Amino acid sequence: MNRIAEPPRRLLMGNEAIAWGAIEAGVRVVAAYPGTPSTEVTEKILHHAGEYGIYAEWSVNEKVALETAIAASWTGARAMACMKQVGLNVASDPLMTLAYLGVKGGLVLIVADDPGPHSSQTEQDTRLFARFAKLPVLDPATPEEAREMVKAAFQLSEDLQVPVIVRPTTRTAHVCQDVAFAPPPKPALPLPPVRFERDPGWVILPALSAKRHRRLNAIQEEMRRWFLRHRLNGIATPCGEEATMSPAPPSLCDEATERMGNSGDLARATADLAIVAGGVAYNYVREGLDILGVSIPVYKVGAPVPLPAAPIVDFLRDKTAVLIVEEQEPVIEEQLTIEAYRTGLSLSIIGKHSGHLPREGEFNTDLLLPLLRRFVSDSIHCHGVPLGKGAPATSADRVTAKAQATPVTPETSATTETVASGAEMAVPPAPPLRTPILCAGCPHRNSFYAFIQAARSRDALFTGDIGCYTLGAMPPLGAADTIVCMGASVAMAAGFSQIEPDRPHIAFLGDSTFFHSGIPPLVNAVYQQARMTLVVLDNRTTAMTGHQPHPGLGRKGTGEVAPTIDIAAVARGCGVEWVRTVDPYDIAATVAAAKEALDYPGVSVLIARRDCVNLVRRSTPHRIDPDACRRCGICLRKFGCPALYEVKSLAHGEGQGGKTTVAIAREKCFGCGGCAQVCPWKAISPEVES
Ligand code: SF4
Ligand code: SF4
Repeated sequence: MNRIAEPPRRLLMGNEAIAWGAIEAGVRVVAAYPGTPSTEVTEKILHHAGEYGIYAEWSVNEKVALETAIAASWTGARAMACMKQVGLNVASDPLMTLAYLGVKGGLVLIVADDPGPHSSQTEQDTRLFARFAKLPVLDPATPEEAREMVKAAFQLSEDLQVPVIVRPTTRTAHVCQDVAFAPPPKPALPLPPVRFERDPGWVILPALSAKRHRRLNAIQEEMRRWFLRHRLNGIATPCGEEATMSPAPPSLCDEATERMGNSGDLARATADLAIVAGGVAYNYVREGLDILGVSIPVYKVGAPVPLPAAPIVDFLRDKTAVLIVEEQEPVIEEQLTIEAYRTGLSLSIIGKHSGHLPREGEFNTDLLLPLLRRFVSDSIHCHGVPLGKGAPATSADRVTAKAQATPVTPETSATTETVASGAEMAVPPAPPLRTPILCAGCPHRNSFYAFIQAARSRDALFTGDIGCYTLGAMPPLGAADTIVCMGASVAMAAGFSQIEPDRPHIAFLGDSTFFHSGIPPLVNAVYQQARMTLVVLDNRTTAMTGHQPHPGLGRKGTGEVAPTIDIAAVARGCGVEWVRTVDPYDIAATVAAAKEALDYPGVSVLIARRDCVNLVRRSTPHRIDPDACRRCGICLRKFGCPALYEVKSLAHGEGQGGKTTVAIAREKCFGCGGCAQVCPWKAISPEVES
């Protein structure tokens, strides 16, 4: 007789299951910082990285880990960053921007929460963070579910082009489960190459930010639909059976009738009760109901943010009371309460706001049992009277009102104000448009120009950062292929170099940003043996915000003398062996240094040092000799100093190469001489006093 082979079984710890889920999903890059209860996910991946062609690293912190994963995702590779809940605080800066910019290859964050806490300084709820970032969260109840949810998370991430958070809590992460599982077959190595394609959508500038924020808001509903389509939330099969999402009607167990009394009473009593349970708390509810021998329909929530609340409200239509069980914060409860209010559903909501469940600490079955018993027995004795009578209830406890207010929008509120005042508002004149551009004479322009000359023919990737030099992304330089947040340029250049090593990767960040968040990723780049160049655009100040001092300047905010921290010495201290300083006003020397830096087979740091033009006296303005000028446009269209402008020339007709020529606005010219160096015809020189 032919027997169907049983699938092999293994005892998998939750974190191991997450790691296998990621490997099965084809993850290419994993970066993490260790933190209980998340650590074993990365340990497992590192153990199998070589067999599956995965690049995996312990990064120096969670921010660097996420930025490394972002770089990988933007090449199209699937990537994962792992951390504990407090680690997300460190990684929150790139996360918030990433929510706007989105992903290419699926990007999953494993953020393990520690209710209790067992080994953390706080017991914050990552689901709240996800609501803040407007990102989807999957909340597994068991190791097997965690493995499946990781695979689903990669798919969701690619379908909606957003990062997805998988949030196991301590029990799910550390408990072991007997599951049907065999490691996936090993792929042929090396894996097919992936490549970053330039796109303005990877550079977070204010105009794009507003657009992407609208998009993020617009896809919240798509996230909810995705959750429901993939059955991450739903009514769970009752009475201790394997938890599956099914619309099966609730039934009473025979055992329950014995323990709780007359079956008719019990049936009437529990028929109008329901429970909503999220994440690992679902297990405690199930076990508690089994112990009590009671069957109450349970709506299981595996995807709490953004909560698809409408189907839960439908599920609760004929109920008089619902118990909401979730560890930590009332994330499900609050979303559900809003939807109940909005749709006029009237029932008792028992949970954290009613004072029946704590917002702190880890749950377990013992903790829930008294409440479950009371939920059922109060209902038996006071059938028809909502539970919570005499309990420390709040206004959120009973939801009865229907939403009647007219939605207020900026448009309607502005109209009301105008009518109420009865006065005609004077419309102020629109301010003149000022294109965002680096200042005339800004040394950063020279640095960018030099690296464009040295590297663009080699298809180099430029990772930008946050500061006045962000403007290097603007035309005509276009010297930033990515911008995410402060310090991200360094981690991302290093991350890109791990996945596309055949291409030069150049990070640009300012001197103040170097001290802010540039040092840890530089340490990481050296440690991980990345191949990249960091250009520190050192203009001796924090220019963008009004010239505040930083540790490299030898003075404090009060003006007092302070120790000077030398950037070159710090870079050497981080383990960088190739460190040079150059004056960007000498463009030829900067190009030469750039070429040398790019040829270095490791991490190189070039400090381009020249004071911000707004802190020094201007020099002799320059002029263009119209007879020498060939109107090639290089100074204007490739270098792009805003003191240069195009004029209609009467002296030079079409026959001489065009109708327009270039001039310098004397009042804007700083006299830096940059344009004179880039003009191939030596047509620009300092004005000579007559
Ligand atoms: S010298 Fe040339 S590059 Fe420098 S500020 Fe004047 S016009 Fe601009
Ligand atoms: S680069 Fe020189 S020749 Fe070309 S337009 Fe400018 S001034 Fe004229």
